[in-house]
Amino acid sequence: MMNLQNPQQSCQEWQQRLGLLDWDVSVKIVSSEEIEEDAEGRVTWVINKKTADIKLIKPEGHPFDALRPYDMEETLVHELLHLHFAPFNIDTGLKAISQEQAINAIAKALVSPKNTTSKVLDAEVPMTDSEAVASLGTSKVQQKHEVLAT
Ligand SMILES: [Zn+2]
Repeated sequence: MMNLQNPQQSCQEWQQRLGLLDWDVSVKIVSSEEIEEDAEGRVTWVINKKTADIKLIKPEGHPFDALRPYDMEETLVHELLHLHFAPFNIDTGLKAISQEQAINAIAKALVSPKNTTSKVLDAEVPMTDSEAVASLGTSKVQQKHEVLAT
């Protein structure tokens, strides 16, 4: 389970990497009750002001029966990527699902090389097959987002 020591600093670093430094982004770690059921993260934004609030659930709030391990950094990157999509965000229907899957795939591709490295360094105990499968999972559709009126 990947945690972030300093979420606000990680956010800054990822904003730089993703070309989003023109956004004022605030990150909060919250209990899972504070965001919609099943969501690992949430982003709200005001596009005219380029301000955004990201909420990430505490690792201990992640449901034990979730299909994938919780990766806080991947969730952070996911929510940040929404800001690139914000000007043409789609909230409902098949296009919204495709948008979510695209963001999941991009977030995973950006974050997983780092995770692979840290897993190798941390790996005293080999992963079981099911953990390996879980770590290779392709998409999470649990992140929620909404647009604030501007
Ligand atoms: Zn999302």
